[in-house]
Amino acid sequence: MFENIQKKFSLAFKNLSGKGKISEKNIKDAVKEVKLSLLEADVNYKVVKNFIDSVKEKALGEKVLESLTPDQEFIRILKNELIELMGGKEPEKLVISRNPGYIMLVGLQGSGKTTSAAKLAKMYKEKGKKPLLVAADTYRPAAIDQLITLGTQIDVPVFSGDKVNARKIVKEAKNYAEKMLHDIVIIDTAGRLHIDDDMMKELEDIKNYIKPEEILMVVDSMMGQDAVRTAKDFNDRLELNGFIVTKLDGDSRGGVIISIRHVTGKPIKLAGTGEKIVALEPFYADRYAGRILGMGDVLSLIEKVESELDKEKAEKDAEKFMEGKFDLNDFLAQIKQIKKLGPLGNILEMMPGVPKENVDLKKGESEMKKMEAIINSMTIKERKNPKTLTFSRKKRVAAGSGTTLQDINKILKSYEQIKKMMKQVKKMGKRKFLGNMKK
Ligand code: GDP
Repeated sequence: MFENIQKKFSLAFKNLSGKGKISEKNIKDAVKEVKLSLLEADVNYKVVKNFIDSVKEKALGEKVLESLTPDQEFIRILKNELIELMGGKEPEKLVISRNPGYIMLVGLQGSGKTTSAAKLAKMYKEKGKKPLLVAADTYRPAAIDQLITLGTQIDVPVFSGDKVNARKIVKEAKNYAEKMLHDIVIIDTAGRLHIDDDMMKELEDIKNYIKPEEILMVVDSMMGQDAVRTAKDFNDRLELNGFIVTKLDGDSRGGVIISIRHVTGKPIKLAGTGEKIVALEPFYADRYAGRILGMGDVLSLIEKVESELDKEKAEKDAEKFMEGKFDLNDFLAQIKQIKKLGPLGNILEMMPGVPKENVDLKKGESEMKKMEAIINSMTIKERKNPKTLTFSRKKRVAAGSGTTLQDINKILKSYEQIKKMMKQVKKMGKRKFLGNMKK
């Protein structure tokens, strides 16, 4: 998979090694190669242009990490930008809130819709759910039979009703699911070789009736830009929640997974990686960025350097913490770190007496956002010395961050508490503390 793009990328870096610093001049050829290889991999032209601009901006602005050569640094930036473009490191989950919850699969014929419906059902079954498959592809009787065969294989019932009227099938399936206590209903809809208005109307009709929590379009990764254009049309009409991109085990060139999010604004949630029913997995952008770039050795080196850096920073922060030199700037940095499950998370884990099971992560996340906004609204001096925050200054910060005086006092209080906690940790012994941090 992605072999062509890998080869091209490797070429791009051949002439880049050994230069002391990244400059406009020494990355010129590499940037050109990257651009060409992306276009050859059938990535949308506008996506390529934006991507290249942003890689260039980052590369020129960035200091080369000590342990990397400039070409490795350039690859590091490229990889991180690719991950961003594909939607970030963490795959987006399917969000099902009702019982039964409804997932509607749409897409062109041959994209892998029916297979993906069965894969999804199996995935939920393994999680202990009771899925129901609904065969609503009334244009292609073979699709209904195919789903019934797959359903039998994985021991999930398939509702096919009168096999004629899709909306009616869905309506009856709803009653059936409620009666039989199914908690997830997966609807396989009709696909044609090309988009046509009747098909879209039928899909809209089903959507408006059942109001699925997830409308996922199944997209064949081998179809390149055509697939991305079709995805845009489907999204314009149906407001999709995301994509299942299939056949990523084949020799697709990469164009679909690189462009689809940028063009539609919707994430790839799942990846189909084979014909077997188990071949469905969350879409991990970093793994695919790695595969697109090839260069296993360089990438693992980069990963190691990045994690060493995080560790070093964590240790420095811990030292600062314990010497009482921890100001709100560091606090802000920690909040950013914790988003990556960073050191504060580790610290919390180690704190004696912190009731972990009671920590409400959702609330924690929104609190963190608030803290970030508040600290961002303070001047550097105020962050260094929070004691200078008088009533009127606090009022200014509250207005700037869209929060209240209470919010600000609360943050200052937690900051003081953390300082206090650190004193306890110091008593516990710095050695032991740092030892734990390294684990
Ligand atoms: P539909 O017309 O959209 O319902 O597509 P199907 O589910 O019938 O799939 C079309 C073909 O693609 C079948 O031969 C599937 O076995 C195959 N297929 C589906 N998903 C994948 C995948 O992730 N990898 C591979 N290699 N083949 C797939």
